[in-house]
Amino acid sequence: MASTTLTTWIDLFCAGVETNRDWLTELDSAIGDADHGSNMARGMEAAAAKAAALAEAAGGPVAANELLKAVGMTLVSSIGGASGPLYGTFFLRAAVAAGPVAEPSASELAAALRAGLDGIMARGKAVPGDKTLVDAMAPAVEAFEAAAGSGDSAGTAAQAAATAAQAGRDATAPMVARKGRASYLGERSAGHIDPGAASTALLFEALAAATAATAQRAK
Ligand code: ADP
Ligand code: MG
Repeated sequence: MASTTLTTWIDLFCAGVETNRDWLTELDSAIGDADHGSNMARGMEAAAAKAAALAEAAGGPVAANELLKAVGMTLVSSIGGASGPLYGTFFLRAAVAAGPVAEPSASELAAALRAGLDGIMARGKAVPGDKTLVDAMAPAVEAFEAAAGSGDSAGTAAQAAATAAQAGRDATAPMVARKGRASYLGERSAGHIDPGAASTALLFEALAAATAATAQRAK
């Protein structure tokens, strides 16, 4: 099977949520219902299997729009919690923006990530500061766009995005949740990292590793 940045990204994100499944669940047990690790692992295992089946059937690289659409639809249908429709929307919107290329450029990736973030914000109505995955994703997408806009490679942009996502994740700890299940706790939600922000940092760490792998293959 021909690996592309996007197929590697999906595989590595799946591996990241599997490795961190217990941690994501622990974070969600503090301010939610202790299912974020299992939700994300179940969803990404199904999505990665679907992506692999598409590549197998195509016998070569799959177009970004087809691949990301399949991932998004699988997440929407296989995760019961809030994160299913949100991550699903991210990939579905990113699919439309990415179009039929197999290996998106840095600026094409930036446009796809931006469309995904906009989709999540439109769907979940969360803004930065509400203690959700938007607090990790918004700075990550901004960092990616800034780097790609100044001519950096996808790998450099993705590394900047991963660092920004990690900082955004950590910055959710003191926040009081205003969206999602954690908001039911009011002030008591402060003092814990948001589980969705933690999985979003894994999403961008996976993208950094995937773009690095592509750059390595090109050498
Ligand atoms: P559930 O809350 O249904 O149990 P998960 O535990 O899988 O679903 O996911 C919880 C995460 O979803 C939260 O940590 C938060 O980051 C994210 N989330 C919840 N509601 C919203 C929203 N309206 N907008 C953005 N993200 C949200
Ligand atoms: Mg939960």
